Amino acid sequence: MEYIIKTENLTKRYGNQIVADRVNLEVKKGHIYGLIGPNGAGKTTIMRMLAGLTERTEGEIELFGERNNLDAYRNRISFMIEAPYLDGGMTAEENMTYVGLVRGVTDKKRRKELLEFVGLSDVGKKPVDKFSLGMKQRLGIAMALLSEPEVMVLDEPINGLDPEGIVEIRELLRKLCEEKGITILISSHILSELATLCTDFIIINKGRILENLSAEELQEKCRQYIAIQTDNTEQTAELLKNAWGDSVRMAASREEIRLYVSPEETLSVSKTITDNGFVITKLVTVAEDLEQYYLAKVGGNHV
Ligand code: ADP
Repeated sequence: MEYIIKTENLTKRYGNQIVADRVNLEVKKGHIYGLIGPNGAGKTTIMRMLAGLTERTEGEIELFGERNNLDAYRNRISFMIEAPYLDGGMTAEENMTYVGLVRGVTDKKRRKELLEFVGLSDVGKKPVDKFSLGMKQRLGIAMALLSEPEVMVLDEPINGLDPEGIVEIRELLRKLCEEKGITILISSHILSELATLCTDFIIINKGRILENLSAEELQEKCRQYIAIQTDNTEQTAELLKNAWGDSVRMAASREEIRLYVSPEETLSVSKTITDNGFVITKLVTVAEDLEQYYLAKVGGNHV
């Protein structure tokens, strides 16, 4: 089985509105996927279809390599699509016990371990009402882990958290992947919040996947570089390699040199080129920040 979750042309329509448009997802074991798109892009709808909470209009869903009896396979996935149900008057431990009973998990030691794992071992008798939003989210994750899922699907779990809370949830999810080998699909409307967490990014807008890219590919696209063209671009690239080595790359079109160095080196770059008799026809610094890159992809001003 290559993919833990796979969809083929997964489509959802509400009347005339297409909310998910032929979505092809491929989720590999042990990766952390960020489903990134502005509000209304269709992220929740896709997750709800995976969870079986919303009927799909068309397309296929494959879980653990199977297309039939999806409900049986859904038991191996933990979905956090709405805010976790918590009883505000009860403690973290009491909430865990309650949910454990519902799911048939009564092991006290396991509850204790999970509360420790999410950093809530010292909250004692404090009722959940008095928890920060981040603490509530972490408790929700501990509850989701009771049934020992292999995959977690989380819809905007860091939405509304303060910066400290965001870091905590990110660290916790990273730990889940690294220490427990749990595969994660997580959504957000802010790419930069997930940029350091995910191994793979799926950028979506208006129900359609615009781009699938790995963390490395995203980094590559967003690094600063100086774009250069001369009257002999190929030879100029060779020349620049003498001084800047591996920082010199050719654009896929081979018509442009991309020199991945600080913009402060622009002057010495242009001097090197002209001193060697080449004529510069283009020299600009390109500095794309992650969020700019994403906004440009989804058509700006959505967030
Ligand atoms: P996201 O999670 O990316 O913000 P959603 O999946 O929640 O996006 O919503 C995508 C679109 O589908 C929105 O335009 C929303 O209004 C619409 N939508 C979601 N659920 C329903 C529903 N039950 N009936 C009609 N339209 C819906």
